[in-house]
Amino acid sequence: MNNVLDLSFAEFTSSIEELGESSFRADQIWRWLWQKRCLDFSEMTNLSKGLREKLGSLYALQRPKVQVVKKSRDGTIKFLLRLVDQELIETVLIPEKDHYTQCISSQVGCALGCTFCSTGQMGFKRNMTPGEILGQVLVGLSYLENEESSLPLRNVVFMGMGEPLLNWPRVRQSLEVLRDPRGLNFSYRRVTVSTVGIPDKLKEFAASGLASLAVSLHAPDQKLRSRIMPRAAALVSVDELVRMLGSLPLRPRQRITIEYILIGGVNDEIKQARDLNRLLSHLKGKINLIALNPSPEIGYLQPDQKRILAFERYLWDKGQTVHLRKSKGCDIQAACGQLRNAKVQQ
Ligand code: SAH
Ligand code: SF4
Repeated sequence: MNNVLDLSFAEFTSSIEELGESSFRADQIWRWLWQKRCLDFSEMTNLSKGLREKLGSLYALQRPKVQVVKKSRDGTIKFLLRLVDQELIETVLIPEKDHYTQCISSQVGCALGCTFCSTGQMGFKRNMTPGEILGQVLVGLSYLENEESSLPLRNVVFMGMGEPLLNWPRVRQSLEVLRDPRGLNFSYRRVTVSTVGIPDKLKEFAASGLASLAVSLHAPDQKLRSRIMPRAAALVSVDELVRMLGSLPLRPRQRITIEYILIGGVNDEIKQARDLNRLLSHLKGKINLIALNPSPEIGYLQPDQKRILAFERYLWDKGQTVHLRKSKGCDIQAACGQLRNAKVQQ
């Protein structure tokens, strides 16, 4: 039986109309699903019993199952979720000053195999469906709603397992439901898709206007990028990628986030900060520096704090907008793929 959460609003509306109901009903049921977050059709009390039963016989209403919840000392909450075919994926709630940001996965595993990434090390299993992608947000929202005086969930970032632009049609549908006022009602500013930069999908994504864009660069030149993220680097050269980013159709004042993980002794020298500044000199972007989140299956280390600060300082002095992001949840293996790998190896 199909999961109703996998349908787009248009698909759902036509299926409701086929049952002889008006499109207004589709609207109503959509709100029950995404806003009231029903777990069963029987809870949709303003529908006739007959319609509720019919829906229950046509569709499953299925969220990923919570396998493990871990709360870190810094407040980060990590969920290991089980999908219908028993595959495990991860999502994380990250506390900020006055809200949570949820980091969600888009694929089981990832085909790109970046050398610093736990998800990359497990290889690609399969794409996640829209219902599975958004099911993570429903799990996060329900969890927070059951916590007393919890902060609200305000942002969603596609920075969990997988490369979202290699699952574009399903990610696109998820973004549509995320934004839909009858759906989860997040504005594009509060949703960010992170990608290594898949050339033929970048334009389509930007033109959709459905979310903000973050690009995982991690190296200022092609040689180094090829070493640490070989498959992503083979898709497009660093120079070409930055040129493409410069020509994307963005909203006025929209800025692309450039992500740069600092890896000890690999990409953290001042020379590399200089090259990065030069590479990005014409781009309307902002740089997020993130200290590597180390884990046993990857052989890299975090740079020491002095080097991290010197790298940031250099870019700052050159006039770049640069933020140093703390890796949160280190004690619960919160970087993407780490908890799953730890669990699978037990
Ligand atoms: N595939 C997409 C989105 C998922 S990864 C991408 O690569 O952008 C989300 C972010 O987590 C990326 O910037 C990725 O480089 C980063 N990441 C992966 N492994 C990490 C680690 N060990 N420590 C810190 N960040 C990591
Ligand atoms: Fe895939 Fe992103 Fe991990 Fe690279 S960093 S292997 S693209 S999930």
